[in-house]
Amino acid sequence: MSDGSQSATTPLDGFDAHSNARDIVKLFQCSRCSLPLREPMTLPCGNALCRPCLPPLYKRENITYPIVEGRSEGFLCPFDGCGSEHSIGDCGFDVTLNKIGHSVKAFISSYNTKTPQIRLLLEEKLNNTVPDDSSPEVIPRSRVLSGGRIAATFVLADMGELNYHSDVAYTSVDASDPDSVRTADVAVLENLREAIRAELECQVCYQIMLDPLTTSCGHTFCRRCFCRAMDHTNHCPMCRRLLPLVHTQQMTPSNKRVTRLILHLLPDLLVARKALAAQEDMVDEETQLPLFPCTLVYPQMPTFLHIFEPRYRLMVRRVLENGTRKFGMLSYKPHSDYQHGGSHWQEYGTVLFIERVEMLADGRSLLETRGLYKFRVVETGMVDGYLTGRIQRFDDISVHEEEVIEARETSIPAQPDDEDSLVRLYHSSTQQLLEYGLEFVRQAQARSARWLHQRVLAAYGQPPEDAATFPYWLASVLPIAETEKYALLPASSVRERLKITAGWIHRLEQARCEYEAELAAKAREQQDRREPEPVEAIATNQTARLEPRPVTAREAEVVEAEAHDFESSETEAGTTESRES
Ligand SMILES: [Zn+2]
Ligand SMILES: [Zn+2]
Ligand SMILES: [Zn+2]
Ligand SMILES: [Zn+2]
Repeated sequence: MSDGSQSATTPLDGFDAHSNARDIVKLFQCSRCSLPLREPMTLPCGNALCRPCLPPLYKRENITYPIVEGRSEGFLCPFDGCGSEHSIGDCGFDVTLNKIGHSVKAFISSYNTKTPQIRLLLEEKLNNTVPDDSSPEVIPRSRVLSGGRIAATFVLADMGELNYHSDVAYTSVDASDPDSVRTADVAVLENLREAIRAELECQVCYQIMLDPLTTSCGHTFCRRCFCRAMDHTNHCPMCRRLLPLVHTQQMTPSNKRVTRLILHLLPDLLVARKALAAQEDMVDEETQLPLFPCTLVYPQMPTFLHIFEPRYRLMVRRVLENGTRKFGMLSYKPHSDYQHGGSHWQEYGTVLFIERVEMLADGRSLLETRGLYKFRVVETGMVDGYLTGRIQRFDDISVHEEEVIEARETSIPAQPDDEDSLVRLYHSSTQQLLEYGLEFVRQAQARSARWLHQRVLAAYGQPPEDAATFPYWLASVLPIAETEKYALLPASSVRERLKITAGWIHRLEQARCEYEAELAAKAREQQDRREPEPVEAIATNQTARLEPRPVTAREAEVVEAEAHDFESSETEAGTTESRES
């Protein structure tokens, strides 16, 4: 996926100032218009082009999620190997490439006014393998320019006389000493490296960017630095702008242009940066994360824990001491799933971050944690009585894939004879699925449902309007079976999670209707005993009671719990105690 994390880089990837002069200039050229990049934009596939070189935009249909400005307009990507539809809202003005472009241009023009003595004849060599360039109308161009190979080639490109795919042949005009040309190129490259180095430093770790990732606001960071920053916030570490699609942005491809600039112009710094990253990997929490099998928790949701068992007291102390403040939480499988062997805990869990801790005098502690991201357990081991594991972070599919699924599922016309309202619900837009959930919560609030008790709202907050988080919130507060709620963890798209919650709501609503019908029937029965009714009325009453499909025990439980006093240890402000495993 990423250009930056391929096999070990050696300084051999670095371009030579003299023999690679043409390749060096290409690093700054737009592959569409061949000019040095103007107002560079980086697309979700990692390719960059000038803003004026964007293909024509069109309106995108059947897409309601996510609601971000500019997402309703799209274009077909002109780059080979991509060709997919991008939303203009995802294409940021690339701040890094823009600054680099300006400083390179400024350097070359000041350099050329100072050193005009070396003159070269530059002849364009068309690339015949590129169809557009091999047509008979395209005539190769030539110019006499000064400043050594790199500077002269950049000027040729800036004049619009050097096709991106073309090569260049250089001939000395004044029979100038070839060594002086080489010396000039070495000096130019050194200046270029200096000019771009500061811009290619990640503003989180202040080192050369490793596996550079560009946000929709146009800022670039090391992928890992960005992901770590996003564990705690949805705001760009540079401009503090809200990044609404943070959960998928982490999976977008690397910035290809920035990757190439570092690989070919700063290879020595890249090698050093990779060595450092390898050292960090040795102590990376994901290779040995403490795991706590206890209860079901979700990303972004709070969990309150009372830690009293000695082994977990030790575990908490260690993660506080090493500064990660992180551990993974797993929920238990239902008994029937492991009675014939296998692990007692589920495969997917959530990494928790300890936000606050209150140490009690006797060594127990009260933790306030928040879910960071989901993971899958790859391998487990034991350390001093508690579980540890190698985990694999489990993120959502990309927004693009999300949109493809929505467009596909909502474009299927609803069958007029489709009796099943749940099937119809599954074909509704992602935004409608969210609205269905929010409306259910609003109605429950209106009738003061017990599961939306003030204490629950104080712990989990009001229902989030963000479609990515709403299902986690609902699952945290809704008193239904844990095995059902677990389905949200292996679900890898926002739409899939909303469909799961829609399924719960649909069933609960049905159960409510039946429960209310039953209550009404009982009331009538009681009345019957007091005063006999006409025969026809009793007959209607009986049919009404025979028809509804049977309510499952659990559905009845939830609805009744709402009607009567309901106390659940799980929903009581999310308090959970560490339980024996
Ligand atoms: Zn262009
Ligand atoms: Zn693309
Ligand atoms: Zn960094
Ligand atoms: Zn930013």
